[in-house]
Amino acid sequence: MTQKTDIKSLTLPELKKELESRGEKSFRAKQMYEWMHVKLARGFDEMTNLSREFREKCGEWYTFTALQAVQVQESGTDGTKKFLFALGDGNLVESVWMKYKHGNSVCISSQVGCRMGCRFCASTLDGLERNLLPSEMLDQIYAITLLTGERVSNVVVMGTGEPMDNYENLLTFLKILTDENGLNISQRNVTVSTCGIVPKMRQLAEEHLQITLALSLHAATDEKRRKLMPIANKYSIEELMEACRYYFEQTGRRITFEYSLVGGVNDTDEDARELIALAKPLCCHINLIPVNPIKERDYVQSDADRIQRFKNKLEKNKINVTIRREMGRDIDGACGQLRRKFKGDNKRA
Ligand code: SAH
Repeated sequence: MTQKTDIKSLTLPELKKELESRGEKSFRAKQMYEWMHVKLARGFDEMTNLSREFREKCGEWYTFTALQAVQVQESGTDGTKKFLFALGDGNLVESVWMKYKHGNSVCISSQVGCRMGCRFCASTLDGLERNLLPSEMLDQIYAITLLTGERVSNVVVMGTGEPMDNYENLLTFLKILTDENGLNISQRNVTVSTCGIVPKMRQLAEEHLQITLALSLHAATDEKRRKLMPIANKYSIEELMEACRYYFEQTGRRITFEYSLVGGVNDTDEDARELIALAKPLCCHINLIPVNPIKERDYVQSDADRIQRFKNKLEKNKINVTIRREMGRDIDGACGQLRRKFKGDNKRA
């Protein structure tokens, strides 16, 4: 038996072709696409302007992904909500909803687990289970829109997983997400964060999208970076900076560097000086993240004075820098923490 097509992962032109090949009228494609990506239907049954007979046929031809919310945690301090969703096969992913003055932002996962092995990150502790389909990335945003009753205006691919390790699905997801016939989220309001897979960063540059590329840098020398991130053994900082320059040349978009401050590891004055030397020649913005300690590792947060001092040093050198507001700290806000905790709790039970 051939595998059924995942209908929500098809772009509009692909859906048109697909339905035509089944002998269906091509205007059906536009109708169905609107049901899936604008009205956020959760199954063929909801597509009430299509005949019952046609909906039944669709059920035979296609799979229709849908998420089940397993757990929702709401921060008592900042309104951040963290959702744990079950996928069709029972795997769990987490997504975060954050309310800002300028609109609502959703942070989505791109894989079940992760194989990048960053030392401070909870998502990677059990390795990679599987890639998410484009539809399953979209579903996180759609489900949260339905559950909160509020429009999502910004999307960050910064949850569990390495998006560049799931490149083709990521690209299809981005196409559908920012399609004017779908939810129509502006490309400028989308950020993709990578641990630094150089060939994929260059490939993404050549797509000429207007999305923001965020690079998880976390250290300014190869030696230090290798201690925190195994991927640093594969690509040097020099290659990374070259790829960032290329991304800027190709897209005109300013790069974001993420730098998680880990107490006593990468937060000294010398670290700041080295980071300045890297960042200065590039058109970039630095986002300092106080590390969110996970219980499996003994990394600690830099103290508040240190963080401020680090930031001041960068600012004195005219580098654009912000400290990431710590949202949802009280609800296992860091990547992979909620999923891990839930699995652990259930095992014990
Ligand atoms: N794999 C991608 C996206 C997911 S991680 C990447 O590496 O960029 C999103 C960001 O959170 C990355 O910068 C990651 O390094 C950081 N991060 C992960 N766990 C963290 C923790 N416990 N504390 C602070 N930052 C963390």
